[in-house]
Amino acid sequence: MYPDITLQAMNKEDNDLGLDFFPLVIPPYKEESSETYCFAFRDRRLLLLNENGNFRLPSLEETGNMDITILRQQYLGELKSISCFSMELDGSKDMGNNDNFGFFVLRELGAILQAPLPLIAGKAVHIMEWDKNTMFCGRCGSSTSLKENERAKQCPECGFLAFPKISPAIIVLIEKEDKVLLARSPNFRPGLYSIIAGFVEPGESIEQAVVREVREEVGISIKNVRYFGSQPWPYPDSLMIGFTAEFLEGEIQVDGIEIDNAGWFRKDEIPAIPGIDSISGQLIEYFISRHS
Ligand SMILES: [Zn+2]
Repeated sequence: MYPDITLQAMNKEDNDLGLDFFPLVIPPYKEESSETYCFAFRDRRLLLLNENGNFRLPSLEETGNMDITILRQQYLGELKSISCFSMELDGSKDMGNNDNFGFFVLRELGAILQAPLPLIAGKAVHIMEWDKNTMFCGRCGSSTSLKENERAKQCPECGFLAFPKISPAIIVLIEKEDKVLLARSPNFRPGLYSIIAGFVEPGESIEQAVVREVREEVGISIKNVRYFGSQPWPYPDSLMIGFTAEFLEGEIQVDGIEIDNAGWFRKDEIPAIPGIDSISGQLIEYFISRHS
């Protein structure tokens, strides 16, 4: 239990936060028949078995019995004493969805699997890609080996350690009286707006990143920056750190590269925005809830 963690506008249970999951590097000893969850990905799509129209995670054994090559496997930890594994399946063989199984992108999982399984799937794909990207030492090129008792790869030649990379990014909801600042990137689908976000630079604090990103992307100053909550964002390895802030001064000016349009929107003027499953959607929902 983490009774002191208050996440504004996010009244979540332990289960939804994934607090029932216990990360480990070495599996505890168990009978071979013990229950397992296998998060097996093919091109970042998760394998689920179809049981009379209901999709569920396969066990390690069920995945092993399928006619598909397993490229790599990592133990992740325990969810209520069920051992969880990440896996990468060979993507070269054509395997479409059929009556027995299907492959699903991460964003679909919230509607298919119960909490906290979609969250663990995000962790699994992150670990799977780390496993793939650290087969060789980034410093000297030798083959790496798994380090004992720690989630790391070690180079036997030069000793270099490769930990899973997490790229922190800030996201900030900016309010000006009864309006919210929304902006769109040229990469968004047509009509979609969101709030300001960007990666934390090396050597920079998170709060500096908030002020800098807002200044760079829309040219305004902000005040009263407050922490809101965070969300792992495995596309491919981010952690989104959410804030609220108030407008201080300046005129909106967009750079035309990262942002091609931005403006102040009243609650009843809000265009298409990200879903509530993302922290951007939750922050905008938080604004709407306080202006109704
Ligand atoms: Zn090396």
